[in-house]
Amino acid sequence: MAESLNGACLCGACTFTATPVSDEAGVCHCSMCRKFSGGMFIVIDCSGTLEFAADAPVTRFQSSPWGERAFCARCGSSLAWLSRDGKMAFVSAQAFPDPGRFPVKHQLFIDCKPGSYSLAGDTSTMTEAEFMAQYAAAPEGSA
Ligand SMILES: [Zn+2]
Ligand SMILES: [Zn+2]
Repeated sequence: MAESLNGACLCGACTFTATPVSDEAGVCHCSMCRKFSGGMFIVIDCSGTLEFAADAPVTRFQSSPWGERAFCARCGSSLAWLSRDGKMAFVSAQAFPDPGRFPVKHQLFIDCKPGSYSLAGDTSTMTEAEFMAQYAAAPEGSA
């Protein structure tokens, strides 16, 4: 994709630019992402390119030893999961003007998904154990 996109929170105070690594969206069903986003967290990998406006009232909450979450202090919109080392940035698909441009291709923590919903599309899936096994050596993944 390599196209810089503009995004914003609900109230419009937090604006940002980000360049998606690809057009593929991922969904995380872990309990932290669900509480943070108010649903399943659909994210776009924008690592290395997420830039908030200088005056954006963006607040960060550290949710794990390696990760933190960015949200708007004014309207509460969930905006991104970031690795604390600054290398990874997964931005909420809903913060972009056209979330539908990002087809959902991957589901993480599929075994943490409540039974009350499921996705219809064809996606890859990873359980929490599979995810942790893959990222244990470099614990900068989700959560
Ligand atoms: Zn806002
Ligand atoms: Zn998650």
